[in-house]
Amino acid sequence: MEGFISDSWETAGLPTEGRFIPPRLMRFTNCGPANLIFVRQPANSYICGQLNNRMAISTKLSERNQGLCELCNSNPATHEYLVSPRTEAVLENLVALCDSCLEKINGEEKGAYWRCLEGSIWNPEPSVQALSYRLLHTCRSEEWADNVLNSVEPDEHIIQWGLSAFEVADRHKDAFGNDLENGDNVVLTQALNVKGTSFSAAKGTVVKRIRLVSGNTEQIEGKINDQTIVILTKYVKKG
Ligand SMILES: [Zn+2]
Repeated sequence: MEGFISDSWETAGLPTEGRFIPPRLMRFTNCGPANLIFVRQPANSYICGQLNNRMAISTKLSERNQGLCELCNSNPATHEYLVSPRTEAVLENLVALCDSCLEKINGEEKGAYWRCLEGSIWNPEPSVQALSYRLLHTCRSEEWADNVLNSVEPDEHIIQWGLSAFEVADRHKDAFGNDLENGDNVVLTQALNVKGTSFSAAKGTVVKRIRLVSGNTEQIEGKINDQTIVILTKYVKKG
């Protein structure tokens, strides 16, 4: 894999466009455009560069899905995408993407395009599952995406890998100050009336495999009577 410094860095007095970056100096990121890379500089600082889009993806990665994009399964795979927070560009951390899926990942627009994830979520590769899970999560306000998320049960480490992109520094804590994690089981410390439904959940009800609500440390999601509901962390105890 090769990379080149993008021209926007010229003004900062950094190497100019087209300068070759030896692979051993590359660090990849997918915060922002996926073809951005960080290049280690002497004093352990990093500068940002851009991967050469014309590069061929590795044969091994390409062969994994017969040369096709591992998300849409229809266009030719043209990019190697490293699924954060993994930092090593090794086969098991990569997903082969086409131009259009890469563009959608980096863009703001979500929604119907990602119905292709209904297929890719079943891909046997953990990296593809984790990325699919992550992208489905960004569309989960749409019914189809929520249905897919509710119908699959990937391994817990895949869910955590997928959801790691949404982790916030603040911690979710239960009523007693214990840290809560995705996948934990909790017990309700008081009866809850569930808005918009006809049932209430008794004190002591066990809620299995909770999800932390990203961006709100006071809320978790869990299933009670097969319905996913939002529960306030102050009403649960880690079980
Ligand atoms: Zn694609």
